[in-house]
Amino acid sequence: MPAVSVSSADRVFVLTGAGVSAESGLPTFRAEDGLWAGFRVEDVCTPDAWRRDPAAVWAFYSARRAQGQSAKPNPAHLALAELEAQIPSRFFLCTQNVDDLHERAGSANLIHMHGELAKSRCEHECGSPPVEDRAVYAGLDDVPRCACGGRLRPHIVFFGEIPFEMPRIEREISLSTLMLVVGTSGNVYPAANFVHWARQAGARTVYIGPERPLNAPAFTEIVEGKAGEVMPGLFRIDN
Ligand code: NAD
Repeated sequence: MPAVSVSSADRVFVLTGAGVSAESGLPTFRAEDGLWAGFRVEDVCTPDAWRRDPAAVWAFYSARRAQGQSAKPNPAHLALAELEAQIPSRFFLCTQNVDDLHERAGSANLIHMHGELAKSRCEHECGSPPVEDRAVYAGLDDVPRCACGGRLRPHIVFFGEIPFEMPRIEREISLSTLMLVVGTSGNVYPAANFVHWARQAGARTVYIGPERPLNAPAFTEIVEGKAGEVMPGLFRIDN
């Protein structure tokens, strides 16, 4: 397989999606039927679902927490951490994933644009910051309340909410010369647009995954295969 070359002038922006964690045993979101781990996203991942049935939302995210805690980083997470270690000041990782497998693999300069499973925050915008919370709640009565009286909700960007840190993401994309996109179907916006923004800024754009994403024509290169199989040894650093 041809290597992806990273030159001393390159700044790398990486976008990962559910596919990068698939080989760690975490189910992807199946866009065609709107199911994630067997649940309809409308029932468990939307502001409306939270208003209607917070118990169902917490049951879903508690199950994701339990599953995430027993999963381990796979060779794709490790390959990205290794790439960052070689070019630390020219590397930025943006993940759509809510698991913490990139951190556990050693990635440091990263943001979770769709939130983090290991945190909770007040359901109201009362000004309290998100808190570390890895609890697996047996029922809604166990979920703590904020000092303001609001219930804690998962620190997750529900479908229909605005992703975190968009200005920083836009700035990093505009500075990058190489965009690597791993394991994302190109269905969820605005992330599906990042490749177009990178192309407009003149970057090379490489997709890595077993099937072509919906936005495949925007990539200058497609590396077909499972991320954990094709990513170790994929990058050639020309310093
Ligand atoms: P998606 O589930 O819509 O698409 C998954 C993509 O991964 C597909 O294109 C598939 O071909 C690819 N894929 C499957 N196995 C792969 C492998 N071994 N290596 C590389 N690619 C592989 O994912 P999405 O586009 O990230 O959108 C899902 C949304 O749901 C995200 O916004 C995310 O927040 C959320 N989600 C998160 C997790 C997680 O945190 N692990 C898991 C599922 C869904």
